[in-house]
Amino acid sequence: MKNQTHLPNKKIYWIIAIASIVLMTLGSFIELWENGPTATFITHLLIVVVISILLIIYPKKKNIFTKYALNIAMPIYFYAMFIFYPFTLSPLLIICFIPGIAILFYNQRLFYFSLISNVVIVLSFMLYVFLVDQGAGFPIFYKDLHGYAINFLACQVMLYFIFALIKKKIEEQKQYYQQIQEDERLKTTGQLAAAVAHEIRNPITVVKGFIQLHETDKQLPDHIKKHYKLMMDELYTAETVISDFLSLAKPEVSEVETVEVKPALYNVMDLLNTYAHIDTIQIELDIEDYYSIQCTLMEFKQLFVNLLKNAVEASKHGGTVRVKVRKVNDRVQIDIVDQGVGMTKEQLKRIGTPFYSLKAKGTGLGLMICFNIVQKYNGTINFFSEEGKGTNVTVAFPLIKKTTSR
Ligand code: ADP
Ligand code: MG
Repeated sequence: MKNQTHLPNKKIYWIIAIASIVLMTLGSFIELWENGPTATFITHLLIVVVISILLIIYPKKKNIFTKYALNIAMPIYFYAMFIFYPFTLSPLLIICFIPGIAILFYNQRLFYFSLISNVVIVLSFMLYVFLVDQGAGFPIFYKDLHGYAINFLACQVMLYFIFALIKKKIEEQKQYYQQIQEDERLKTTGQLAAAVAHEIRNPITVVKGFIQLHETDKQLPDHIKKHYKLMMDELYTAETVISDFLSLAKPEVSEVETVEVKPALYNVMDLLNTYAHIDTIQIELDIEDYYSIQCTLMEFKQLFVNLLKNAVEASKHGGTVRVKVRKVNDRVQIDIVDQGVGMTKEQLKRIGTPFYSLKAKGTGLGLMICFNIVQKYNGTINFFSEEGKGTNVTVAFPLIKKTTSR
């Protein structure tokens, strides 16, 4: 991520801070001009000095202490203005918006502190005017006390809503920012991993070659040959993981073509039938028309080999996997239904994440490849599954054309 410069914000901060200091100082000197060096003038000036110092040091020391100090000193200034000059009601208006200062600091605790203390102080003061003062010191305020109270409370509620909205927006932006960072990280680690995977493939091929060479040695005792077979199996697993992974990482070079769904699916079934027959699992295809979609034949096969292989692997001995193709609006929908082990809600959430597999020899890359292919050709893929009952995978692609007979 690029570094962000805060210069324009800094400039605005200093303009506002200096303007506030000048105006507050001017205000206190008007008091001196009109009434001489009274206690009111001295208190007024003292608060102005404290706020000015805080405003000057804040950009250099943006810690919790200066934040709270500013959020306490500024309200004190407005409360003092209201008490010193009871015939001017403008400070009251500003008092209503005091928690707004805390919103500028984007600090939740500070905002609640400011909001609650403002409500407690102002309502206590109103109670004091109502019961004790009774208009002697604050006649204008006393006259419409309940009106001011309602207005004040309405302002606090409004500020709370503004804060809640801003907080939600900031949280959304934070999440978005994290997502971008995560994507960036995945992209670079993905590229790195692809380079490493590619480098591992070569030594594996060499080792496999030598093992095959020694395996044929007739003088080798059987128990050693058994070890060689184990080694070959493990290397084969490693190769599968690598080629699955590389097919995800490498950029696609073949051109997009129009794939006819029916013959392509029959082809996939032929590939998988021997695999399914081992466990006497039937694969049934239900397709009437000839639909075509835009994809490469290689990726189409890769997609359905992965999905059907999963369905077969999930099915129980003697089970059936049904593949149903039909047109839904402007899309070709292909359903792959099995009555196998199914998945729990938690498992459903995790499918498609790299290396997530519940199988002893699984790579956990199959569905990730599927999701990639489907997304690439504007398709959709949805999983409906219930533990112990089976799974229904629904894949849909935009329909290109339909030829009724063949
Ligand atoms: P792999 O097949 O190598 O385990 P996949 O990405 O193809 O990797 O699948 C990930 C996991 O999703 C599987 O290990 C399995 O637990 C679950 N899964 C996928 N398809 C099905 C299905 N049809 N029925 C039940 N579980 C499934
Ligand atoms: Mg799989």
